[in-house]
Amino acid sequence: MKKLIIAGIATALTMSSALAEDVTEADLAKDAATTTSILTNGMGRHLQRYSPLETLNKDNIENLLPAWAFSLGGEKQRGQETQPIIHDGLMFITGSYSRLYAIDVKTGKEVWQYDARLPEGILPCCDVVNRGAAIYGDKVYFGTLDARIVALDAKTGKVAWRKKIADYKAGYSYTSAPLIVNGLVITGNSGGEFGIVGEVQARDAETGELVWTRPVIEGHMGTLNGKESTMTGTLNATWPGDLWKTGGGATWLGGSYDIDTDTIVFGSGNPAPWNSWLRSAGNPKGTEGDNLYAASRIGMDPATGEIKWHFQTTPREGWDYDGVNEMVAYKDRDGNKRWATADRNGYFYVLNREDGKFVSATPFVKNISWAKGIDENGRPIFNEANRPGDPSAAADGKKGETIFAVPSFLGGKNWMPMAHSPKTGNFYVPSNEWGMDIWNEPVTYKKGAAYLGSGFTIKPIFEDHIGSLKAIDPDTGETKWEYKNDAPLWAGVMTTAGGLVFTGTPEGEFIAFDDETGEKLWSFQTGSGIVGQPVTWEQDGEQYVSVISGWGGAVPLWGGEVAKKVNYLNQGGTLWVFKLPKQLASAN
Ligand code: CA
Repeated sequence: MKKLIIAGIATALTMSSALAEDVTEADLAKDAATTTSILTNGMGRHLQRYSPLETLNKDNIENLLPAWAFSLGGEKQRGQETQPIIHDGLMFITGSYSRLYAIDVKTGKEVWQYDARLPEGILPCCDVVNRGAAIYGDKVYFGTLDARIVALDAKTGKVAWRKKIADYKAGYSYTSAPLIVNGLVITGNSGGEFGIVGEVQARDAETGELVWTRPVIEGHMGTLNGKESTMTGTLNATWPGDLWKTGGGATWLGGSYDIDTDTIVFGSGNPAPWNSWLRSAGNPKGTEGDNLYAASRIGMDPATGEIKWHFQTTPREGWDYDGVNEMVAYKDRDGNKRWATADRNGYFYVLNREDGKFVSATPFVKNISWAKGIDENGRPIFNEANRPGDPSAAADGKKGETIFAVPSFLGGKNWMPMAHSPKTGNFYVPSNEWGMDIWNEPVTYKKGAAYLGSGFTIKPIFEDHIGSLKAIDPDTGETKWEYKNDAPLWAGVMTTAGGLVFTGTPEGEFIAFDDETGEKLWSFQTGSGIVGQPVTWEQDGEQYVSVISGWGGAVPLWGGEVAKKVNYLNQGGTLWVFKLPKQLASAN
């Protein structure tokens, strides 16, 4: 990965948009219902990405117009995956190469910019992206590619504190938006392809002081207030030998918080290395080769980091089906409190909100090959013939049998967040229909080197599309409608009470769909591929919508035959803001 050295200073250009009020825990708790600001990644810590605004709706969406645009500048335009945060006249966005911008939300004028001073030798696996900031008190927070978390004064951009999450030289980085709960800044880590150990950390938002840590691989010790707390799991219960020490499970996407059960949930990535035969001696019996808690969702106490429950989507994972995809808290049509997640492995899971217990799983992509289904306990019924072969069983001992698996390792769905509408009851899931040739190879751990033990090539499985935005009924698993897109979808989704579903495509279109029929109602060409996360808010009685445009992310780097299909797309780095002018709100 290319490295870049840029000045670690923030420049205050104007002070005209000073914040009037500090953000409180109460503000964060009501973020989903508040239409005049956006204080959390996910538009509420349940991550529903649903706005109760209906000023903009199916009847007047055709009148949505650009209000202003903002260029991130810089000589290197890379994947832009941020979600804007909006508070008291300022918008905060993050950009590729660990940059943070404060922008006057009315005019689009920059107020200040912070560029992290990144060291040489950073090891981001999947583009130099950042997925957004967090806000609390008088500070904004974001992570940097050298695995640090920075707190800045929201008014001036002056650094309040800057802390190391982990050692970037060992392959750690950090790209997701921090989660804030009860005055704690809670972060995960990235680096699952380098044999790191996934961990969740909580810091005092004011001082940056570490409060607790929770490694997610069994055998590792957690901490609380500087002292050892409890061991994660039971040593060697599901991992052979010393492999747990470099066991992966990167917690690389942000978490969710459910105030009703006072639980934070983070997902964990693939166990390391990818070659599953190395993590399970011979033919494991029962659950002994499951490699907990990799490829899992983990419910934790936000005050202590103690694990309350876990749900492993892919035990003995062997296809890079990271279990990190976001957990959305919602109520089903009978009023039951649930979690839902669309996993990399191609299944849409519903879990009980209280204890993480399995409720249902249904495929949300076609032609899934690695499992025949999910049993009544939520455990996959493996298709063992579709596990990449054991290299030690091959004649030359160097390359195991190659198999063609669906989904590809980039997943039925990757990081890009889905949305839930309490109005329709549906989830709107950005999915991809693709497969891969995958094989295993011998590998040994070396600090800072890729630790896969696998080779792969991603391939399309349908001629006319890879991307597929789906409206999914979580109660039945039924796909209500589908929008097919040529290139793989890599942008977040948002839905509104106005009956709209927004997302973007790598081809550059920002699109609004009818939430009930999937009909394309409006679109705008942004000039580069969209891999960012849309938001909407209300300002001076008018409804605004925003999304960042700037092609990049994992697909062009890792997409095999698919990457060739999208390499004509232009790079970019522009935040677009649209509004429905007052005089057109009633027109149709
Ligand atoms: Ca992974």
